[in-house]
Amino acid sequence: MTDRRLTRLLAREMAHGLRAGEFSARELVEAHLDLVHATDRGLHAWLFLDEEAARAAADLADARLADARREGSAALDALPLLLGVPLGLKDLVVTRGQTSTAGSRILEGFVGPFDATIAARIREAGAVVLGKTNMDEFAMGSSTEHSAWGPTANPWNLGRVPGGSSGGSAAAVAAYQVPLAIGTDTGGSIRQPAALCGVAGIKPTYGRVSRYGIVAFASSLDQVGPLARDARDLAALLQVIAGRDVRDSTSSPVPVPDYLASLPEGDDEAAAALRGLRLGLPREYFGAGMEPGVEARVREAAAALESAGAEIVDVSLPHTEYGLATYYLIAPAEASANLARYDGIRFGHSSRQGDVLANYLATRGTGFGPEVKRRIVLGTYALSAGYYDAYYVKAQKARTLIKADFDAAFERVDALVAPTSPTVAFPLGARTQDPVAMYLSDTCTLPVNVAGLPGLSVPCGLSDGLPVGLQIIGPAWDEAGILRIARAYEAITADAGWRRLDPADLPALDDPKTPAPGLPAGTAV
Ligand code: GLN
Repeated sequence: MTDRRLTRLLAREMAHGLRAGEFSARELVEAHLDLVHATDRGLHAWLFLDEEAARAAADLADARLADARREGSAALDALPLLLGVPLGLKDLVVTRGQTSTAGSRILEGFVGPFDATIAARIREAGAVVLGKTNMDEFAMGSSTEHSAWGPTANPWNLGRVPGGSSGGSAAAVAAYQVPLAIGTDTGGSIRQPAALCGVAGIKPTYGRVSRYGIVAFASSLDQVGPLARDARDLAALLQVIAGRDVRDSTSSPVPVPDYLASLPEGDDEAAAALRGLRLGLPREYFGAGMEPGVEARVREAAAALESAGAEIVDVSLPHTEYGLATYYLIAPAEASANLARYDGIRFGHSSRQGDVLANYLATRGTGFGPEVKRRIVLGTYALSAGYYDAYYVKAQKARTLIKADFDAAFERVDALVAPTSPTVAFPLGARTQDPVAMYLSDTCTLPVNVAGLPGLSVPCGLSDGLPVGLQIIGPAWDEAGILRIARAYEAITADAGWRRLDPADLPALDDPKTPAPGLPAGTAV
């Protein structure tokens, strides 16, 4: 198999090929590193690669595979599924001895003293971490343009954003640089970039995945989750990271089911899961600002689910209109508290100027970008003594109402289907001067975080040649249920022509003259 063929495999196919001895983990990792080297100049999905560590992990995986092969098929079957499979971590996952900047200058040079729980679990499972992916600074943004290290491009159109804040992870998976990546989602940052790059992503229920060792943005909203190229690969990685962690008191002891086992291999069996299922179409998610092409694809997806046996029910989530305001009070309030720790003494960058206060002001003044400063100011204001009741407490009340809307809907339906993003990928630069336009990118995803629910996005076709995402939202703890619906949707659309299409600008990424994202063509290499 040529190297480029290896990178086209799904994670499960890689697992299968490794066990069958068709290729080694070392070959797999070299193929992916080669592709990253050949294509990342124009994509800029990666902030950091640790090739030595990746090769060592791959060699260890090969040794485990060889031992198991000698012992027989039972030993091979007992190996962790993702052993030897390459993967990327968003640059806010702390790992021992490696850098994590969270896309910010203020963390430049910060080297992790320990592994985040999810990183430790991923390593235990034998998956091979290649490095860290680009992101909006502290996960604040919807386009990856707020990264202090420059934006990531969308492999479908290099002049467009990949979405954000997990834009590096989504673009890397879409461009076949890795089959799997980790993102985080505070208001949409896994689902929206997945939608804009034509890949799959799931935000688990709040508390499903440990946040220990994840650079915090808004602690009551943040969740870690996987990005992949289909629902079963999402399930495979979610399995590794989900579950109670004593180091994160908000992680839940709710038992983790076998996600992959509940997703049928066969398309007919997968599609059968739709029969008798009640799926709600929330009226308010098709509001102003929705592109007609996006609405058309999502309604076609709902129609396909209906003809396969699901019942589509019109539902209303009446407090949706308060979602954006609620989120943009709670998230900045929590961020302003979480980011107080970057004081120029304990982490990364320090201006080393004057006394403690002068150093604090200079470090934060130069270390944080404009969007982060905007959020700190907004959040500090919302929490200030004179305005706390008017803004923060009010937002918490609205949060309860938004949650109650979902509770009422789930009395009537098994899950909700909706658009993930109101638009397809927008041009680089189109929203950077207008924060509210940028914030509107997440109107369909924010309420899910505000209510703490699981939500995922899977590709459902193209509009204007760019990917559209179908969002599936479930009741708390029912990741398995929404993954089953996603798998069923993949099964009933398995023959759709758009599934055969590659991201249109992949060939351009192979051209060494392609400039870094956001720079004009012809820029000196
Ligand atoms: N775009 C939203 C924001 O800027 C959500 C980001 C996220 O989910 N991390 O806050």
